[in-house]
Amino acid sequence: MAPAPKDTPEGPLSESTAPTDLSGFVAGLPKAELHVHHVGSASPRIVAELAARHPDSPVPKDPEELERYFTFRDFAHFIQVYISVVELVRDAEDVRLLTYEIARDMARQNIRYAELTVTPHSSVLRGIPDVAFMEAIEDARVGAERDLGVVLRWCFDIPGELGLPAAEETARMACELRPDGLVSFGLGGPEIGWPRPQFKPYFDRAIAAGLHSVPHAGESTGPETVWDALTELRAERVGHGIGAARDPRLLAHLAEHRIPLEVCPTSNVATRSVPSLDAHPLPELVAAGVLVTINSDDPPMFGTDLNTEYTVAARLLGLDAAGVAELAKNAVGASFLDPVGKARLSAEIDGYLAAWPG
Ligand SMILES: [Zn+2]
Repeated sequence: MAPAPKDTPEGPLSESTAPTDLSGFVAGLPKAELHVHHVGSASPRIVAELAARHPDSPVPKDPEELERYFTFRDFAHFIQVYISVVELVRDAEDVRLLTYEIARDMARQNIRYAELTVTPHSSVLRGIPDVAFMEAIEDARVGAERDLGVVLRWCFDIPGELGLPAAEETARMACELRPDGLVSFGLGGPEIGWPRPQFKPYFDRAIAAGLHSVPHAGESTGPETVWDALTELRAERVGHGIGAARDPRLLAHLAEHRIPLEVCPTSNVATRSVPSLDAHPLPELVAAGVLVTINSDDPPMFGTDLNTEYTVAARLLGLDAAGVAELAKNAVGASFLDPVGKARLSAEIDGYLAAWPG
């Protein structure tokens, strides 16, 4: 169930009046994350480790300088940082290190389960053999669960801006190489100029192979893209989907069919999909009864993390600890974790809330 916004006569809590202990509650809350990108999760710490492996890279090696380099300025800067990180992932060991260290950063935030959006085509284009790539992410996944207690699953996404050849390659790797952790098939990249319906045959193949459909849609465009994702790509969850807020019929459809949205508030401001956090349509989505989950997208690059996103959501929705716990349970319910794992993580959230002194 999506928590309803609280009735506060003075409106949503502002940053300054938000109860300070709510961030403490969020920090310790066991969480699941459903929309977070692989390379986009490389924190300055991880980038420093990768840069140390490749001294010829232009990425600063000094930790303080690197911290400054990573401080989010604008979208153009995000792209620059993103590309420089992509260029640091050159071999299978880089892939393994990146993936395992992402899990370490997740463990520090009490993220217990994450569906990481991976773009294998980008790595293969850069010369990493596909089989070696699969072995590297799987090795990291097994290690992360064993050593850190973080369960990882994969969503292989098509880099939409590379068109149908990239879709073909991503579908081939998903269906033929299918690593054990793969649960879903996605579509990222710009929405404008890359209509969703052209990717239908690739989603059909992935769905026939037993993968879940989770395309990005309605991030920078309106409800028509979300409709396309639902009708053409048979989306079971929608990446972002905030454009749905402009179409009451679509909101009703999402609510009725319990199709979750993967909402990433800070990312939407950073990419200028919404003008500010206070203008974010999250409250409208929740008020319409849509099942929303809270996610971080490309956290270090947008200067955020999942805990910050939960705190933002709590402020926008006027939630207390129990409301935040409900949001966390939304993500568990909307995940592709097995039923036993879902029940266990939900019970952990309930236990944590019951023990919370506030
Ligand atoms: Zn995304």
